[in-house]
Amino acid sequence: MDPLEHASIPSLVYLALAGEPTLTGLTALVIGSVFPDLDVLAEEHRSYLHSLLVFLPALLLGLHSGGSFLLFTLGWGSHLFLDFFTGVIPPAYPFSRRGWGLSITVTGPRDFRIKLELIERYPDKKHNYRLEIGGSFALALLTLLTAIIRLN
Ligand SMILES: [Zn+2]
Repeated sequence: MDPLEHASIPSLVYLALAGEPTLTGLTALVIGSVFPDLDVLAEEHRSYLHSLLVFLPALLLGLHSGGSFLLFTLGWGSHLFLDFFTGVIPPAYPFSRRGWGLSITVTGPRDFRIKLELIERYPDKKHNYRLEIGGSFALALLTLLTAIIRLN
């Protein structure tokens, strides 16, 4: 999943559900939602910042402090949630590199089937990105338009 999708999906949820969304809150959420991919600067992508051992204490701190830091950690949590469905996250990194994810495959229309598969493997090593962001760009524009309407 690319950064535009990681930022747009929780932003749309925030803009839809928050009683009075603010630019500060939205900014904290967006920064949190792309923050875990700073892991690309480490030895491997989906490592420290994709680990529940790092995320859960930050979430507890966010729940305690509230405000913008809570939105930052909720954005971070949305990143891990979305990555769980598009690969694996290593919940106990750095003690274990083993990652978990859920693959959902739909086939049809003939012989319609939905296949759920729990994936267990090690995250991919660091690699160079090549992103096709056409659909993500459209989603980001929709999010921006929604933010302009909701933040007024
Ligand atoms: Zn990620």
